[in-house]
Amino acid sequence: MRKRWLGIALVIVLLGGVGAGWLLRIAYYPPILMYHSLDPERTGTPTVSEETFARHLRYLKEHDYRVVPVEELVAEIKKGHIPRRTVAITFDDGYEDNLKAVRLLKEYDFPATIFVIVGRIGEEGYLSPEDLRQIETHTKVRIGSHTIHHYVLYEAPDPELEIRGSKARLEEILGHEVRTISYPVGGFNREIMRLVKEAGYCCAFTTNRGYSRRIDIYALRRIKMKDSDKGLGLWFKLSGYYDLFRRIRSPE
Ligand SMILES: [Zn+2]
Repeated sequence: MRKRWLGIALVIVLLGGVGAGWLLRIAYYPPILMYHSLDPERTGTPTVSEETFARHLRYLKEHDYRVVPVEELVAEIKKGHIPRRTVAITFDDGYEDNLKAVRLLKEYDFPATIFVIVGRIGEEGYLSPEDLRQIETHTKVRIGSHTIHHYVLYEAPDPELEIRGSKARLEEILGHEVRTISYPVGGFNREIMRLVKEAGYCCAFTTNRGYSRRIDIYALRRIKMKDSDKGLGLWFKLSGYYDLFRRIRSPE
């Protein structure tokens, strides 16, 4: 009798373990970090200091995270196999101060993607066409589109221009195909997702917005990085489970 109860208890523990493993696997969301400016003086946009960014990169290195280009992460998502401790780094808007980040990324030999507002390229405070080419030539940092005018896309007078036009203009500057885009302010809807896909992008990035908790390569959620992120808080943001405890905002 005792043996039978022991057997039943063992089966329950095993099933519980398998169930927990399964839950952990389906709840995992690869951490895609989102930065904007590295100039703490800049107002109207999220900033982290150069020291903070350097500290984040050092943390990734010291704790053996695998930092991959976003395209590689998307390929792994499509295969249904995302190795743990995989992280991607992104920047939005294309501020000139991102050159400080690029220098640090080069030191660590880490890839990243900068999504640039194409209509601002070369304006004061923003990266120039030559900056973009130099970055791609000398580092593992790549350039993606953040549209032309930074409208919330479903409110833009001409979404096709924002999506296709920004791609074409960037391709002219860089001399190769551009396949990544991030939605200004993270906003999109199903029609915008369709246009982005049809324009030939491999994937699109949002903030903490989405229609579901599922991983959708045309609505990849990102984690907003802050100056205060360190220690346990930073570890949690990189864990792949940070998203589980966040409210997902409507994309529209
Ligand atoms: Zn933006």
